Amino acid sequence: MNHKILVVEDSRAFRNYLFNQLSQIGYEVICAESLAEAKHIISQGHTFFCAVLDYCLPDAQDGEVIDLVLATKQKVVVLTATFNEKVRERCIARGVLDYILKDSMSSVSYIIPMMKRLFNNQNHHALVVDDPKPVRRHVSQLLEHQYIRTTTAIDGNDALKKLQENKDISIIITDHDMPHKDGIEMIREIRQSVSKNELAILGVSSSEDKTMTARFLKAGANDFLNKPFNQEEFYCRVHQLLDMKEANNELFRLANQDALTGLWNRRYFFNQRKEQPKVDCHVAMMDIDHFKKVNDTWGHDGGDKVLTSVAHILNLYFAESVVARFGGEEFCIQYCGDFKEFTQRLDNVRQRIENTTITYQDNPIRVTISIGVAQGDDSDINQLLTLADSRLYLAKNRGRNLLVSN
Ligand code: GH3
Ligand code: MG
Ligand code: MG
Repeated sequence: MNHKILVVEDSRAFRNYLFNQLSQIGYEVICAESLAEAKHIISQGHTFFCAVLDYCLPDAQDGEVIDLVLATKQKVVVLTATFNEKVRERCIARGVLDYILKDSMSSVSYIIPMMKRLFNNQNHHALVVDDPKPVRRHVSQLLEHQYIRTTTAIDGNDALKKLQENKDISIIITDHDMPHKDGIEMIREIRQSVSKNELAILGVSSSEDKTMTARFLKAGANDFLNKPFNQEEFYCRVHQLLDMKEANNELFRLANQDALTGLWNRRYFFNQRKEQPKVDCHVAMMDIDHFKKVNDTWGHDGGDKVLTSVAHILNLYFAESVVARFGGEEFCIQYCGDFKEFTQRLDNVRQRIENTTITYQDNPIRVTISIGVAQGDDSDINQLLTLADSRLYLAKNRGRNLLVSN
């Protein structure tokens, strides 16, 4: 991914501040202090993730540097000390992403969350729903201008179909009045299965109906915007929704992921199980043999290294299954598919771990695992786990480094 940012700013204080702050969040920052220097850098043919440009430079007092950079099709954010309606209009009309008032250090600090937002936008996919093509194109362009990928739909029905086909869609921007299925009806249908935390929806409408905002929100939209809207307000709303979506994703991760190994935890295992067919989804319980001895010999950190290494191997062999750490040195895998193939792959992973040398502070550590498997049937998950657990216990009793499946 592109991490380069161009900063053109004649004030040394602001320039240094931006250089430090942007470098700290991972950008490679290239600075210039005049139009002439910017021209030189641009002539070298760099592609920037974004350019942060001072409106007024000693050798370019009327935004000339903006035209220079926009001419190379790069994204531009403008810093300006002379805020007035004329400057603002000109900036927006020329296609800059945003402008920042340079009245104090603290207002310039707005640029840091903004650059983080822009960077994270690359992970988002928006669905734009409206019947007139020019509107879809305009909204899509605004989003793509900020690195958000877009898909479009011509009405509610088309949107539901596109949503099925693109599981990574994280935000929907939708109109209300559309043939076949209107926006509010579409939102109601989506909300039967997908919550506000999982998928953000921004309603937009030019309807004169004073109840439109409330109707959208009650149907399950996260926010609403009247049409026509100005670009800045649109971006602010979209940013807020995406910030919220990311915060929710992070909460979900914290609540469902094991911090040491990055595997799923117990909570996730049981929650997702409710959505699986019982008969075809089998489970395996596994436990590292004599793990206490690893801790006793190499200390707790050595033990942790073994846990993360074993977790990594389990993930490699069962990338498409649910691999969870149940606690301590105990892991559980749910595999949906052929039972015979499952036991074969489990035995392969057992051998792989047996033959792996884990290195901790230059010391070689070898471990083995024992496995108990249970075939998915009509019994509930707790019974299935009890069965797998009793087979794991058998494997331990029979000498460890073994798989027991019946
Ligand atoms: P067995 O072969 O019968 O499974 O013996 P074992 O020594 O592996 O089993 P035991 O249950 O006696 O010991 C498990 C140890 O795992 C005890 C506990 O201190 C340690 N443990 C639990 N969680 C962690 C952890 O997160 N990190 C480390 N390093 N050790 C842990
Ligand atoms: Mg319409
Ligand atoms: Mg053990």
